[in-house]
Amino acid sequence: TEGTLAEIVSHAKEYGFVFPSSEIYDGLAAVYDYGPMGVELKNNLKQLWWQAMTQLNQNVVGIDAAIFMHPLTWKASGHVDGFSDPMIDNLDSKKRYRADVLLEDKAAEYENAGDKPRADALLAEMGRLLTAEDLAGVKQLIIDEKILCPVSKTGNWTDVRQFNLMFSTQVGAVADDSSKIYLRPETAQGIFVNFLNVYKSARKSVPFGIAQIGKAFRNEIVARQFIFRMREFEQMEMQFFIRPGTEDEWYQHWKATRRAWHEAMGLPANKLRFHDHDKLAFYAKAAVDIEYEFPFGFKEIEGIHSRTDYDLTQHQNLSRKKQNYFDNDINPETGKAYGNYVPFVVETSVGADRLFLATLCQAFQEETITEGEGDEQKTKTRKFLKLHPAVAPIKAAIFPLVRKDGMPEKATEIFNALRHDFRLVLEEKDAIGKRYTRQDLIGTPFCIVVDGQTLEDNTVTVRHRDSREQTRMPISELHAYIGQAVSF
Ligand code: ATP
Repeated sequence: TEGTLAEIVSHAKEYGFVFPSSEIYDGLAAVYDYGPMGVELKNNLKQLWWQAMTQLNQNVVGIDAAIFMHPLTWKASGHVDGFSDPMIDNLDSKKRYRADVLLEDKAAEYENAGDKPRADALLAEMGRLLTAEDLAGVKQLIIDEKILCPVSKTGNWTDVRQFNLMFSTQVGAVADDSSKIYLRPETAQGIFVNFLNVYKSARKSVPFGIAQIGKAFRNEIVARQFIFRMREFEQMEMQFFIRPGTEDEWYQHWKATRRAWHEAMGLPANKLRFHDHDKLAFYAKAAVDIEYEFPFGFKEIEGIHSRTDYDLTQHQNLSRKKQNYFDNDINPETGKAYGNYVPFVVETSVGADRLFLATLCQAFQEETITEGEGDEQKTKTRKFLKLHPAVAPIKAAIFPLVRKDGMPEKATEIFNALRHDFRLVLEEKDAIGKRYTRQDLIGTPFCIVVDGQTLEDNTVTVRHRDSREQTRMPISELHAYIGQAVSF
């Protein structure tokens, strides 16, 4: 069976995946730290994304831009004027909410009750009002839908206001307005402002992409659902620069490619779905979310956006530097080169933390197992993380069966031979069953046991996490065996 969010949160803490930030001071809302297992899992996810985007695509290169950027960047991108969420307070409970989230929750309620048309109608109406920036209309919709404050069960709402989500700070010693800069709320702009530098230095021609992994910061109004919505998080974004007129084709391409990647990573097809945006940013031509079914419902893990030439044109206007590309290809309609244009962009944007959470939710398993024979037989529940070996924090654990007869030395020998290529643990303490259990809980796919026979014939047992079956294998085959399993 699958876990509830509460079970997953406590498992993540207990086994060193995710801790609340500065917990000894009672934590900081919507900020989290990754523990020893978490950092390995997250690095594996990021590395697999990086590989899928850059190594497997001849025409995608990476960058690592700074978090701080020139303040005009955020004017150009529209974030200074428009990156806000509609905020509403309840007067009784003094709690703050996102107006759109209250309405989305209501729509989910209709959908769960089997009334999808009503849910869709509500979302469409919300999208219409938000696009028209009709905040009074949004409030009216909350009243008409009889939405009560989840805490105080009253409908005593303030007006809806726009709340800008960017964090700001000062550079240098003088704290006047001119030195105010922002912590980037998305990594994408670091790619756009480097468009010319990259395409010239990497000698790329359209279509080509630039990928980046990095931190982003948003002062989210409400923090909830663990690492699903954080104030400091990590994004993995790719901007794909294309010839105007080819955007629909590339949008379809990336939509399909990205979904297939999530499935290959182990998120099952029936727990993924596309969700077209009801509320399109005014410059966007099309936008879709890839949603995963978390324990709290289907929610976005990745967005794919057809952004036209909006961003590059905006940067061209504010920086007064041409963001042109010269296309030498011949246009069959005119017989001449396509020539100069500002490229269009299709973007893929996935949150590393949300992907981490989806991976953890999907992996968490609890099953009833029977152990022993005859009168000795007993049943117990077993918890384990069914992680793809490619993302598992530890690839294999090496155990001497007992701490004598040369078994620890033999185990150390195996450990030393494999540790350069795989993240391993070597454990001697406790009964073997206990050691298996610990590895199950962190999702280690293989436990390698050195026993009496090993010392005679150089074979070990390999215990498989998911089936609990054990097979015997020559030590000389371990490297190839693990290598095969962890390749992706
Ligand atoms: P939402 O509607 O959930 O606020 P968004 O549509 O604003 O998300 P984008 O701006 O498209 O999100 O960001 C791209 C990706 O970055 C999202 O798909 C998500 O995985 C991730 N992301 C965005 N905000 C957060 C956050 N506060 N915490 C963790 N991940 C986030």
